[in-house]
Amino acid sequence: MLTVEGVSKRFGPTVAVQDLSFTVEQGEIFGLLGPNGAGKTTTLRLITGYMPPTTGRIKVAGFDVATAPLAVKQRLGYLPENPPLYPELTVREYLGFAASLKGLRRQGLVREVARVMEEAGVADVAGRLIGNLSRGYRQRVGLAQALLGSPELLVLDEPTVGLDPVQIAEMRRLIKELAAQHTVILSSHILPEVNQLCQRVLILNQGRIAAQGTPASLAAATGGRQLEVTVKGPVAEVAALLAALPGVRAVRQADGRPGQEPAATYFLELLPGEDVREELFFALAARGWPLLEMRRHQLSLEEVFLQLVTEEEPANGGGNPN
Ligand code: ATP
Repeated sequence: MLTVEGVSKRFGPTVAVQDLSFTVEQGEIFGLLGPNGAGKTTTLRLITGYMPPTTGRIKVAGFDVATAPLAVKQRLGYLPENPPLYPELTVREYLGFAASLKGLRRQGLVREVARVMEEAGVADVAGRLIGNLSRGYRQRVGLAQALLGSPELLVLDEPTVGLDPVQIAEMRRLIKELAAQHTVILSSHILPEVNQLCQRVLILNQGRIAAQGTPASLAAATGGRQLEVTVKGPVAEVAALLAALPGVRAVRQADGRPGQEPAATYFLELLPGEDVREELFFALAARGWPLLEMRRHQLSLEEVFLQLVTEEEPANGGGNPN
C-alpha cells in the first residue's frame, strides 16, 4: 500500500529525515514513533505529497507521489496534527465544503458527508458550530474529513495529542475500527499507544530509522540479549567465570541480596543469537557454586525506545529485526 525508498528531506542546512526506506502493507496499522523533532511530521507530509522529498521515491497503492499526485490524493486521507477547521461553520457545513474540494457534488456529497459523520462518530453534533466542540470532537471532525471519498490509506499525525484520557481511549477504538477498511499510518510519541494500536512500528531518531519491526520483535531483539542470574559463590571469581563464557559480551554485578550472602546477582549481556544458559549451568555446577535464579530479561518497548534514542550514534538503517 505504501513504499518509501531512500527518502531524504533537507530544509536548507537542516536534514529533517535521511535515507528512509520502509513499506506498509494493506490493512496494517503502522506506527511512526520518535521523540520531538525526530522527523515524524516531515515523513507524513512527504507521503501525502504536501511537499516533495529532496531525494528518494514514495508510492501509494503503486502510484508515485511525484508523478501521479492526483491518483495518490484520491487514495489518501490526511489528518494533520492541527487540522485546519473553520470554527464558524457547523460540522455538516465544514464537511460539505471539504467534500466539494474533493470534487463531490449534490446527492453524492450529501451521502458521503452523512457516511463519514457516522464513521467518525460525529453524526450527533452535525448541526453544532465547530468552535463550540470539545477538542476530542474536533479531532473526530478532522478524521471525518480524512475519511471523505473512502481513501485506502489514512495518514494520521499524532491523532490523540491534546485529548483527555477518555477521548484518547475513544480515538484509539475508532482507529482500530477504521483499520478494518483502511490501511493506517500514524505518528505518536506515546509508546503504550503505539504498542496497543500498531502491528508494526518504525522508530525514528534524528531523522533516521533507529529500528523497525513488530513491538514484540523490537523488544526481543534488544531485550532477549540479557540474562539475569543469582549465584552463591565468591563474587569476583563468579563474575570472571561468567565473563569468560563464550557468547557473553559483558557482565555487570547487581547488589548482593541480604540474607543470601554470599549470593549475588549478575546481569549478562549476550552477543546476538547466543544462548549460554546450559554452559552457564554446567560451568557453575563444576565449581560447586549453586545457581539460585536465572531469567531472561525482556525489555518493554519503552526501554527499547530509550535505549535506541539515547545512544550517541543512532543505529544504522539496517536495524531491522524482521
Ligand atoms: P514533533 O513531534 O515535535 O512535531 P517531529 O518528529 O514531527 O517532531 P518534524 O516536525 O518532522 O519532527 O521535524 C524534523 C526536523 O525538521 C526538525 O529539526 C524541524 O525543526 C525541521 N523542520 C521541519 N519542518 C521544517 C521547515 N518547514 N523548515 C525548516 N525546518 C523544518
